[in-house]
Amino acid sequence: MRSPGPVAATTGGQDGFAMRLIHWQRQHGRHGLPWQDSRDPYRVWLSEIMLQQTQVSTVLDYYPRFLARFPDVRSLAAAPADEVMALWSGLGYYSRARNLHRCAQVVVTDHGGRFPTGASALQQLPGIGASTAAAIAAFCFGERISILDGNVLRVLSRLLAFGEDLARSGAQRQMWQKAQELLPPHPVGDDMVAYTQGLMDLGATVCTRSRPRCSQCPVQDLCLAHAHHQVDRFPVRGRSVRRQSVSWWLLLWRRPAAGGWQLGLMRRPGTGIWAGLHCPPVFESDEALRMAVVDTWRDRLQWLPVVAHSLTHREMRLHPVLLDGDAEALAGGGGLDWRWVKADELAGIGLPAPVRQLLEGL
Ligand code: SF4
Repeated sequence: MRSPGPVAATTGGQDGFAMRLIHWQRQHGRHGLPWQDSRDPYRVWLSEIMLQQTQVSTVLDYYPRFLARFPDVRSLAAAPADEVMALWSGLGYYSRARNLHRCAQVVVTDHGGRFPTGASALQQLPGIGASTAAAIAAFCFGERISILDGNVLRVLSRLLAFGEDLARSGAQRQMWQKAQELLPPHPVGDDMVAYTQGLMDLGATVCTRSRPRCSQCPVQDLCLAHAHHQVDRFPVRGRSVRRQSVSWWLLLWRRPAAGGWQLGLMRRPGTGIWAGLHCPPVFESDEALRMAVVDTWRDRLQWLPVVAHSLTHREMRLHPVLLDGDAEALAGGGGLDWRWVKADELAGIGLPAPVRQLLEGL
């Protein structure tokens, strides 16, 4: 299907898409979320990074805790990486936390502790993509620029009955162009705040992935997909992402220590699954795990129930194997760079969420 030409939604004026969205957001959008009170780029940036791929209800739990410990960009920049990862633990997508920390350090060292005020400069910072940069610039500095995250792509592709395959970068560039054309023509006051929040709210609460609530949509009569009864045809995404499955055997290796246990943990490499986090020794097969354990200790291995865990492009099956054994139980340390960590230190280090659950359940 060819994408349509300009539509009424792209025209300005009081009845155009932008002004409808602004009025709707002010009356019916989401208000009172803790990050909405602020025009402080640090707080807005933190919320935007946390909200990527994470539900609002989860962020509502993490955001105040993170801010209580790191109230400004300087305190975050000065923190040890392990502490940042520990506070992020459970939010997933840990590259966000590593980039968050790096970004804070760059803001302090290169920008004197103040975030740049324009989207193009913000986008140069670690972990800040085009849409996040636009959100910070629009919310904090009133810049006339559109966000375009997954939710907004869905809304606009339906509004415009945009028939190109959004898996193609050329189609995404076209959508950026169209998103810019839909902006309020002459925003005043906090119009850009209401407009940007309105795009987010419309995608999250009305124009949802399945069963959109078109009867409650403020732009229903501008929406081409709705007019042609083709809402479920959009967005068009031709290339589906195949989820790979991966099985890991985790050696939950512990020994008694004063007041509890010590656990043998290693740090994951800097790239790949759980990069930079702490983790029990990982093996790619049951046999590899057995061979790493000295034969006189093997009969102490206990296989615990398998845990299923989903990542963006992977389904993981984690096979936890418990070993109550001392340092000599692993042949040559298994060739791994591990260390003993006391059970009561686990809260202070970065652990993947399913690993934390496993270790805390021992
Ligand atoms: Fe989405 Fe329906 Fe509104 Fe169109 S009318 S933008 S499909 S909610």
